[in-house]
Amino acid sequence: YVVATPIGNLRDITLRALDVLAGVDVIAAEDTRTTRRLLEAHAIHARLVALHEHNERAATEKILFLLAAGKSVALVSDAGTPGISDPGAIAIARARKEGFRVVPIPGPNAAICALSAAGTSALRFLFHGFLPAKAGQRRRELEELKNLSSVLVFYEAPHRVVECVEDLAAVLGARRMITIAREITKLFEEIHTCTLGEAGKWLAEDANRRRGEFVLVVAEPEPVVSNLSDAGRRAVQVLASELPLKRAAELAAALTGESKKALYAHGLSLKRKED
Ligand code: SAM
Repeated sequence: YVVATPIGNLRDITLRALDVLAGVDVIAAEDTRTTRRLLEAHAIHARLVALHEHNERAATEKILFLLAAGKSVALVSDAGTPGISDPGAIAIARARKEGFRVVPIPGPNAAICALSAAGTSALRFLFHGFLPAKAGQRRRELEELKNLSSVLVFYEAPHRVVECVEDLAAVLGARRMITIAREITKLFEEIHTCTLGEAGKWLAEDANRRRGEFVLVVAEPEPVVSNLSDAGRRAVQVLASELPLKRAAELAAALTGESKKALYAHGLSLKRKED
């Protein structure tokens, strides 16, 4: 079983996850102390073995041995879903290759949690996880993502969040929107949306804003609207004052023959200016 566990609030665990953790022969945990605390909170007593990034291959052999002996094993990481910017992939791939059934037990994931509250309307998102720690590499990786027409989701550590946000602004453009989701499900949870150009200042204003765990959700780039005609701009502006923006963009596109996406983006930028 690949079992998702809370990303902060210990009550964010599914009934099925609790059943599985209480019922298996062994739990393979990234940090046995962290998992012990979770189990204690739910009055579960279990046998734990460690499986973390430094022993994953050796621990995998141990798990395969247990599975071959007919034992059931649950794999958990410190927080959230195992295998997502967390160890687990090697053990899971080996277990499946050896013909054992691998059962996912879904639950919390910081990226999905942040996306759910960011309010981006994007149809597509790209989960990138952690960017490289070194600035040069980080900027090169961002260059590759710059023109993708999708929301980008990053994980970042508190001691690097300011430089990361500055690089996001430098490479992706200061006008793109970002949602900074900090300490999700915890006491000091904070979810703030602003432009990338404003994000560094927002973080600098208060040391508390730079503490804890971060997910950075960067909105899609705005389609180029500079080649819209004046008639198109005017049409979407007038229609959007009476109709939802999506419908206004559709009608303006039908009237002027211009791109619905560009008209929508223009309407959106007008709305943001009004706000
Ligand atoms: N497996 C986890 C998941 O499913 O989300 C991610 C593990 S990764 C090693 C840890 C990173 O996830 C943190 O550095 C942070 O970027 C993000 N993260 C985890 N918990 C979080 C939380 N409560 N609030 C914000 N970000 C969080």
